[in-house]
Amino acid sequence: MIKLPEDFITEIKDVLGGDAEKYLALSDSEPFKGISINRLKAEPEKLPALLGFDTEKSPFYADGCYIKGDVQGIGKHPLHHAGAFYVQEPSASSAVTLLDVHPGEKILDLCAAPGGKSAQIASCLRGRGMLWSNEVVKNRAQILLSNYERMGIANGVVSSCYPEILCEKLSGFFDKVLVDAPCSGEGMFRKNPEAAAEWSREHVISCAERQLAILDSASQAVKDGGTLVYSTCTFSHEENEGVITAFLEKHKDFEHCEAAEKFGRKTGVSCGIRITPLEGGEGHFAAKLRKKGSSYPTLRTSQKENNDKTLISVRTELSNIFTELPAGKLTVINGKAYIIPSEMPEINGAGVIRAGVFAGELKKNRFEPAHALFMASKPENIKRVLDLSLNDSRIQEYLSGCEIDCETDSGYTAVAVEGIVTGFGKCSVGRLKNKYPKGLRTL
Ligand code: SAM
Repeated sequence: MIKLPEDFITEIKDVLGGDAEKYLALSDSEPFKGISINRLKAEPEKLPALLGFDTEKSPFYADGCYIKGDVQGIGKHPLHHAGAFYVQEPSASSAVTLLDVHPGEKILDLCAAPGGKSAQIASCLRGRGMLWSNEVVKNRAQILLSNYERMGIANGVVSSCYPEILCEKLSGFFDKVLVDAPCSGEGMFRKNPEAAAEWSREHVISCAERQLAILDSASQAVKDGGTLVYSTCTFSHEENEGVITAFLEKHKDFEHCEAAEKFGRKTGVSCGIRITPLEGGEGHFAAKLRKKGSSYPTLRTSQKENNDKTLISVRTELSNIFTELPAGKLTVINGKAYIIPSEMPEINGAGVIRAGVFAGELKKNRFEPAHALFMASKPENIKRVLDLSLNDSRIQEYLSGCEIDCETDSGYTAVAVEGIVTGFGKCSVGRLKNKYPKGLRTL
């Protein structure tokens, strides 16, 4: 049984009023679980039928579903390896719905690891425009990068930078900015009862101070007329309405956007929604603000194409494997090839870990394509594809690192499951040498 701190019970009574008792009565029941479908790799109309477990559409995001029943080992599902979906608590998907992403926009996800909301944004962008995902904690930024690769995101940048430095460098660059702030995590108590044991009023207050500072920084990166969405997975007034009110007090160039969503409950600010277990999610707050005015970004983007000998040979090697590459500028840096988004601004010192897709590496006199490039490519853009059905035993063998039988011509070959690329190998006389990265293999 979860032991909720007395001060938290007082707080939740203040936040939920007459509904607090109903909330408290649910504190020991099973948490909601969900997935968000990745349109870069899968079709939301078809995927649920392939999963082998029951799902139900969630009200919080167009491509979000509840997982029904007790499903174990979902991270080992071949379609999870393939990046067809991201496991995400259903109410956590609501902030991206408020962000209202359209293909072609430039979006900043300022507190992005492990990457659930970035995965949603990339899916909504459909490969057009640009996503910049930042995570200040270095090792969490690596997890973010690995999720980027799994989801096949090509038009993105991953960085690890302090928000105040990054947002100053990218001042006015983004159409929309998401701040999914670190918080006291009151919406995590059913999933992670230790979070309840660690909760304190002092922590709530210190989180609110940090959240306001992050939001202050974020405001710079939004272009005039752009959108800023703030979200947390906590209930307290201090970390939610309090932060929004203090921010608007200080930033007269921002205004509320009325929350028009049909989910969640009303909050103390007209631009916000709050979701609790009573509305079908573990707990989220999201609020949408608009920067007044209208203007155009001033940062220069890098358009230079260099065509030295190395680049020409990399291009030739890639054309033996792919019929079409993700959009962007092919660049070779120290023998490593990348396809960099054409919207990438020319800036230094922003802690960029990856811009675009890692395409491969020159090793002695040969070129080895990268796993990330296969993940970001559709089967129809790859010359050789071994497409396996979910009940073909070779898919589990491949994901565990084994060599498998292969019917394609010899050469680098994508491995797909139900038409979704999950990695590659090198085919030679009917056998596929496994190139699935060691760190991703199932045991
Ligand atoms: N948006 C993520 C997702 O959907 O997967 C979850 C983000 S989590 C709620 C907040 C993130 O903010 C954490 O990864 C944390 O490391 C990061 N963070 C912690 N302190 C921070 C700070 N001072 N500035 C910016 N981000 C911070």
